[in-house]
Amino acid sequence: MAKVFCIANQKGGVGKTTTAVNLAAGLAALNKRVLLVDLDPQGNATMGAGVDKAHLERSVYQVLLGMESLRDALQKSESGNFDVLPANRDLAGAEIEMVELEQRELRLRQALLDVEADYDFVLIDCPPALSMLTLNGLCAAHGVVIPMQCEYYALEGLSDLVNTIKIVHAKMNPDLKVIGLLRVMFDPRMMLSQQVSIQLEKHFGEKVFKTIIPRNVRLAEAPSYGIPGVIFDPASKGAQAYTSFGKELVARIAAL
Ligand code: ADP
Ligand code: MG
Repeated sequence: MAKVFCIANQKGGVGKTTTAVNLAAGLAALNKRVLLVDLDPQGNATMGAGVDKAHLERSVYQVLLGMESLRDALQKSESGNFDVLPANRDLAGAEIEMVELEQRELRLRQALLDVEADYDFVLIDCPPALSMLTLNGLCAAHGVVIPMQCEYYALEGLSDLVNTIKIVHAKMNPDLKVIGLLRVMFDPRMMLSQQVSIQLEKHFGEKVFKTIIPRNVRLAEAPSYGIPGVIFDPASKGAQAYTSFGKELVARIAAL
């Protein structure tokens, strides 16, 4: 039975997609069977996994609206060796079209039931909003991984996300918990990064992952080739950090 994780943070540009794609490839390299679900109409995870979002016959959009089965909409990330439920801008319309549907926050959860025996991990790349799409992700998941940049405003908005997770846990999905906070795009030369990082550890203790993802240009270059960073340049500092993070996550879940 698959363990399902949301990569969520309602801020944009904080490293959600980079984390989702590299974690997917990192777990696949550990011989885990992985499905990456792209829940963002921007389709960045889709492209980063090497699937062309411009030429999708079926995507997560049709799956959420019940027009296609999840299995039929799957694609393969050849570069990353995992499966992808792709997204493109069609998904932007889903929020409004889903208003008509019953139990609209449970659409992804229900669709995933079909394939939960086929994977060890399902990773959901959430859009940068606390929207119906993100709610679908949270209702489908066992846990949330929150990527954070160690900057002055990092903590702002975190309480909204944590509150949303609490509400979903209480009312819709008792399985849901915060698995951990992941420090990303870390620049050790910046005093502020160090300070915020220490603050995070003080506040959240064990919930902060030990692995820190550094700012690394190879991670930013990889998506333009449609190859996850951990495969594109495995020796780079960023790739090595994401590989370590995959191992830390597997160990943390085993201990839960
Ligand atoms: P989000 O999905 O939260 O919007 P992304 O993962 O797309 O964030 O990251 C935003 C931008 O930062 C992208 O251009 C990405 O390539 C870049 N980026 C993400 N993580 C790193 C990193 N560790 N080092 C360098 N660039 C990064
Ligand atoms: Mg993204």
